Amino acid sequence: MIPFSPPRIDDKICNEVVAALKSGWITTGPRTKLFEKKITDYCGNKNTLCLNSATAGLEVMLRWYGVKEGDEVILPAYTYSATANVIIHCGAKPIFVDVNANDFNIAVSEIEKAITSKTKVIMPVDFGGLPCDYDEINALVLKHKNKFVASENTSQQKLNRILVLSDSAHSFGARYNGKAAGSLTDVSVFSFHAVKNLSTAEGGAITLNLPEPFNNEDIYKQLCISTLHGQNKDALAKTQKGNWRYDIVEAGYKCNMTDLTAAIGLIELERYDNDTLVKRKHIADRYLNLLSNNPHLELPIFITDKKISSYHLFPLRIKNISEQQRDAIIQKIFDEDVSVNVHFLPVPGMSFYKNLGYRVTDYKTTCDISSREISLPVFYDLTDEQITTVVNAVVKAVNSVLK
Ligand SMILES: *Cc1c(COP(=O)(O)O)cnc(C)c1O
Repeated sequence: MIPFSPPRIDDKICNEVVAALKSGWITTGPRTKLFEKKITDYCGNKNTLCLNSATAGLEVMLRWYGVKEGDEVILPAYTYSATANVIIHCGAKPIFVDVNANDFNIAVSEIEKAITSKTKVIMPVDFGGLPCDYDEINALVLKHKNKFVASENTSQQKLNRILVLSDSAHSFGARYNGKAAGSLTDVSVFSFHAVKNLSTAEGGAITLNLPEPFNNEDIYKQLCISTLHGQNKDALAKTQKGNWRYDIVEAGYKCNMTDLTAAIGLIELERYDNDTLVKRKHIADRYLNLLSNNPHLELPIFITDKKISSYHLFPLRIKNISEQQRDAIIQKIFDEDVSVNVHFLPVPGMSFYKNLGYRVTDYKTTCDISSREISLPVFYDLTDEQITTVVNAVVKAVNSVLK
């Protein structure tokens, strides 16, 4: 069976995790702090906080911005449910909007129609690793500055406009106008979950890039406290001689990254550009090459004049088919011992959101794309021979269902 996206676990990773274990420091410590610095260097943003997931990072930032009941947060209907769930956790209302037919990303014109005086945050999702239209989104929040009504929250008063919080779960290493994801808007959040491009088993990072007059270093320090019980000293600081006394300054969360997972991240980051991304691009190019002449297929976009993808997914679409036909094709691909997936089932169509009153049919492009999409395997150890097996399985399945 060809798997969908197993993590790359080799001796280098194992040795570094063992080194972290033997160092005696296994929770948040020197490796996590080094990983944060290296992410900041890589992305060119201002400060980076590593956590145990992207989901935690997104919620922490919504809370930092004082998002609460009565507020609205705009996001694409075409995403993973985590993007929406964190808005619910804060008591606010997710405002789903439709996406572009060509690149699966949030449609800027749809965002603009959805902005009201209750809008606090826009959460674009870099689908499959291709950055959203940040020039346009960053300009949109300035254009609609006078619609924004700041609450008593000091961050809202300081920014005095809608915050752009990018769900960059897929886009570590992607580029836009020559700049790296993580530095493309106010705040971005990466995921290092097991299936993601750069994995630490579980993990995530908040990359802060807030404009003047924000002090991103101060926000970083404040977020360290609010993601570790609200305790004014972390475990490492408490080990300093005589430094045992601590205080709790807020009812904080507990979602810090451990040095064991940071150890994986450090190795993954070191070889990311020259190895991981090269391989992922090779896989995507090979699929594009082998599938380009098939009239039934719609191929994904990885490069535009402004953007370069991180090649997280290979989201193939089959032309003119029903959802039932797509599901039948997937079954036939699995019958050939090839694992595929669908990214994504629309969030407003999920039971929880349906029960809140959302109607998935309100998002036409999302429904159309989702019903015809099949994501092909992309992972570091995928061989050229396996790519051929995947392509043959897809073509055979499509031909047999469309015969
Ligand atoms: C994976 C993913 C997340 C969640 O990441 P975790 O690190 O598992 O919390 C959020 N948004 C999108 C689009 C994702 O694909």
